[in-house]
Amino acid sequence: MNYFLTDDQKMIQELAAKVAKEKIAPVAAHYDETEEFPWDIVKSLAQADLYRVFIPTEYDGLGGGVLEMALVVEELSKACGGIALCYAASALGTIPILLFGSEEQKKKYLPRLAAGEIIAAFALTEANAGSDAAGVKTKAIADGDSYILNGTKQWISNGGEAFINTVIALTDPTRGVRGSSAILVEKGTPGFGFGKKENKMGIRGSTTRELVFQDCRVPKTQLLGKEGMGFMVAMKTLDQSRPGVAAQALGIAAGALDKAVAYSRERVQFGKTISSFQGVQFMLADMATQVEAARALTYQAARTIDAGEKDVSKISSMAKVFASDTAMRVTTDAVQVFGGYGYMKEYPVEKMMRDAKITQIYEGTNQIQREVIALNMIKESVRATKK
Ligand SMILES: Cc1cc2nc3c(=O)[nH]c(=O)nc-3n(C[C@H](O)[C@H](O)[C@H](O)COP(=O)(O)OP(=O)(O)OC[C@H]3O[C@@H](n4cnc5c(N)ncnc54)[C@H](O)[C@@H]3O)c2cc1C
Repeated sequence: MNYFLTDDQKMIQELAAKVAKEKIAPVAAHYDETEEFPWDIVKSLAQADLYRVFIPTEYDGLGGGVLEMALVVEELSKACGGIALCYAASALGTIPILLFGSEEQKKKYLPRLAAGEIIAAFALTEANAGSDAAGVKTKAIADGDSYILNGTKQWISNGGEAFINTVIALTDPTRGVRGSSAILVEKGTPGFGFGKKENKMGIRGSTTRELVFQDCRVPKTQLLGKEGMGFMVAMKTLDQSRPGVAAQALGIAAGALDKAVAYSRERVQFGKTISSFQGVQFMLADMATQVEAARALTYQAARTIDAGEKDVSKISSMAKVFASDTAMRVTTDAVQVFGGYGYMKEYPVEKMMRDAKITQIYEGTNQIQREVIALNMIKESVRATKK
C-alpha cells in the first residue's frame, strides 16, 4: 500500500531497514540467547543518525516526529523486537523532555540523545503500581534546592543502561496521584542504583531492570514541568509513545509474515510446495491483511499526533491494541506455517512469537487500552448529546 511518505521519510525507512538487515539480523539470536545489552547496535543506530529522527532541528535532530520514530521501530523490529525496544524505550524516555522539558533541560539532554551518545528510560511502574499507575509510592521529598528520592521502580526498559531517566515520584504523598511529579535522574547520581535484571520470555535483546533510589538527592532544576504534574506527564508521554509499541508489534508481525511466505515456497509436502495448498494460502492472506491494517492504523495514529491534534489517547490506544493483537496472531500463525520446524530455536519464528507477547502487555495492557478507547467513546457521545 502507498502511504505517501515524503522522500525524507522513505530515506529514514530505508536506512533503518539497512541497519536492521546488515547489523541486527545477524546478531538477533545471539542477544536473544545471552540477554546482553546490544551497545554495538546502539552505536550503529547512532552512526546512521537514527536517534535524530524524532528530535527537533534546534537540538541537533532531523525535525521529524512520532511517524519517523515509528518507521524506524518498525524496520528494526522486523529483524529483532528486543533490540528495537532499546531504541523505542529511549524514545519513550525522551518524549517527556520533548513535551515538558524547560529550554535548559532540552539543551542539556536532547543533543546528546539525538547523537545517540546517551540513551533514556521512563520509570513509572512499581511492584504494586502496574495498570493502576496512580498507585506509585516512590517519594521525592523537597529538601532545600533538592528532592530526596526513595523507592523502587520495577521492570524498566533500558534500566541500568540509560543515562537519563524520567522518574514519576510523589513530591506530596498526602495528595496521592495529584502530588506526583516527573523528575529527571542521571545515572551516576549518588543513591541511584540498580536492582534485579529480569530473565524474560521474549524481547531478550533488551534490558529490563529495577531502579532503586535510596536517599538520592536530585537538584530541583531536574523537575519536568511543575510539581503535581507527574501523572499528567506520564499519560501524555504514553499517548505519544504507544504508536511506537504499535510499530514494534507491526514490525515483528511483518517480519514473521515474510519468513512464513518464504518458507511456504520452499517446504515440499505431498510433492508440492506448501504454498500451493489453499489452507496455507488463506492463512497467509489473513496474516497479510492484518499486517496491512495494523500499519495503516499505526501510521494514522502517528500522523494524528504529529499534526498537533490535542486528544490522541483513543487513536493511540487503538493502534497499540490492534497492532499488538495482530502481532500475536500473525506470529502464532507463522509458527503454524513452519510446522514443527517453527517450534525449534534454529528457525526464527518462535522468537518472534515470544517477542510479540509483550506488546499486548506493556505501556498499558490491552485491557487497559480498551478501557481508554471505550471511555473516550463515551465522553464523545456525551459531548455530542449535549450539542
Ligand atoms: C518487559 C517489560 C518491560 C517494561 N518496561 C517498562 C518501562 O520501561 N517503564 C515502565 O514504567 N514500566 C514498564 N513495564 C511495566 C508495564 O507497563 C506493566 O507491566 C503493565 O502496565 C501492566 O502492569 P502489571 O504487569 O502490574 O499488570 P497488572 O496491572 O497486575 O494486571 C494484571 C492483569 O489484570 C488486568 N487488569 C488490571 N486492571 C484492570 C482493569 N481495570 N480492567 C481490566 N483488566 C485489568 C491486566 O490487563 C492484566 O491482564 C514493563 C513491563 C515488562 C514486562
